[in-house]
Amino acid sequence: MPTTTDAQEMAALRALSATIGADPHLTQAAGGNTSLKAGDTLWIKASGTWLKDALTDDIMVPVAMGPLLEAVERRDPTADKPQAFAIGALNPRGLRPSIETTVHALMPQRVVLHVHCVNTISLAVQTDCEAEATRRLDGVAWAYVPYRRPGLPLAQGIAERLRPGTDVLILGNHGLVVAAETVAEAERLLYRVRSLLARPARETAIPDTAALRALARDSGYRLPAEAEAHAVALDADSCRIAEAGSLYPDHVIFLGPGSAVARPGEQVADVVARLGTDPVAILFPGAGVLMRGDASSGADAMQRCLADVTARVDITARLNYLTAAENDELVNWDAEQYRQKLNTAV
Ligand SMILES: [Zn+2]
Repeated sequence: MPTTTDAQEMAALRALSATIGADPHLTQAAGGNTSLKAGDTLWIKASGTWLKDALTDDIMVPVAMGPLLEAVERRDPTADKPQAFAIGALNPRGLRPSIETTVHALMPQRVVLHVHCVNTISLAVQTDCEAEATRRLDGVAWAYVPYRRPGLPLAQGIAERLRPGTDVLILGNHGLVVAAETVAEAERLLYRVRSLLARPARETAIPDTAALRALARDSGYRLPAEAEAHAVALDADSCRIAEAGSLYPDHVIFLGPGSAVARPGEQVADVVARLGTDPVAILFPGAGVLMRGDASSGADAMQRCLADVTARVDITARLNYLTAAENDELVNWDAEQYRQKLNTAV
């Protein structure tokens, strides 16, 4: 079989990126990223751009891979700023490479897909993730990487776990990475792993939109963009799981740490007064979810993601939550503030 050219692979990657970017069970908002290695250059999704726009917008940025990998090996803090390795001559719009560029550079395969797959995340927040994935991924060359902040810390965590031939990574409290020599093989591997990890969502009652509209009136809050977001407030276990803390980075970045849950009889103003702040989203158990009026499209996507993830978590499992320090390092991280700024503008 003739080997495909870089141009053919890039066209295929853009098409696949748009497809997986449009699937809320694989990517949400600006989350997830894809890459293609062409010689010494790594073409990677730009920070803050959305995979679903891969066919209509120029979202891929070239990065000098060798120098970036050398920086990771030296534990040089510049590896945490992949824009320092962008190839300016091929990057006329001055886009910044994804903050997860090092994940892609470390995988030796030509094509790498990183997604915030709902089925993967729901397992990756459980303390028994490694044992359960071992049972499900028989025959797959995979590795489990415990949670580290994306960027240099995660790159170091991956380097510690990577073995020759590994082409699937489950990132604790984060998501999934698959890698292959062609886009078609990477796509097959992605869907294979997703189906091996799949668990059904617990079913819920329908949201009480009349009650939510009454709660929203003159409150500065509104109904979420997608009706699926309500499920987290309609299932007692999902609500309990959400209230207990933050489970993965993009939740913290777009919605803030944890989830605000209204107590019986509370109005929006009561919740805001009790918390001393106006949270991006409020869960009203048994009714549904309200979003703050100025919540970004990324926040809406992440609120739906929370419903999709928590509905699949094993309710008997112990869960890993991000610590207060881990929440803080995400909220105060320059690279994330940049990404969120781009998303607020969308
Ligand atoms: Zn990620």
